[in-house]
Amino acid sequence: MEIKAPTPQIPPAVWTEFKDLQEWEKLHQERQEGDKHSALFESITEGIFNFPGGFVVTTVADGFLNWARKSSVWPVTFGLACCAIEMMAMSCSRYDIARFGAEVFRGSPRQSDLMIVAGRLSRKMAPALRRIYDQMPEPKWVISMGACASIGGVFDNYALVQGVDQIVPVDVYVPGCPPRPESLIYGIVQLQRKIAQQKLA
Ligand code: SF4
Repeated sequence: MEIKAPTPQIPPAVWTEFKDLQEWEKLHQERQEGDKHSALFESITEGIFNFPGGFVVTTVADGFLNWARKSSVWPVTFGLACCAIEMMAMSCSRYDIARFGAEVFRGSPRQSDLMIVAGRLSRKMAPALRRIYDQMPEPKWVISMGACASIGGVFDNYALVQGVDQIVPVDVYVPGCPPRPESLIYGIVQLQRKIAQQKLA
C-alpha cells in the first residue's frame, strides 16, 4: 500500500473580518493602471501581497511609507511670477511650513518630489518646466498655484499656456490671485491627504 506524504493545508485568511482591511482590499482591486511606481517594485509588492499573510504586510508597509512620504515633501525651488512671492512667504517664519515637513526647498529637481508651479507659464518656458519635472524622481507631485498657473488667469493670449496641466500632471490646484500663504499651506495639506491614500501593491 502506497503511503502519501501529508499535504499541508493553509487555512484561509482571517483578515477579511477587519473593516479597514476590507476597504484596503477594495482599493487594491480598483487600483488604476500606471500608478507612480516602477514595474519591478510593483511586481515585488504584488508577490508579497499574494503570499500567505502578505496582505497584512503590504497594508502596514503602505501606511508607514505613505506617512514618511507625506511628512517630508521637498519642493523644488521654482517660481515663475508674483505667486512665487507668496510661496516664499509661506516658507518663512510667520507661516512656517516646517510644521508640515515641507520647508526643505531643494536647489536640484533630483532631490525634490514636489513642484509648485507658482505663476504664469509662458510657452517659451514650458519646455524648461517639463524638463525640470522629468528630472524629479518618482514618486512626485505637482501643485498648480494661482489663477495664472491653473487656467492662464487674466492673460488670455497666445504667449501663455492656459493651464499647466497641459504640460505636467497636476495633483492639487490652489485658487487665487495670488493665493495667500495660508491657501498654499491648505493645498499642501490636501496633497498630504492624497499621498496618505496611495497604494504600493
Ligand atoms: S495668479 Fe495673480 S499673483 Fe499669481 S502669477 Fe498670476 S497675476 Fe501674479
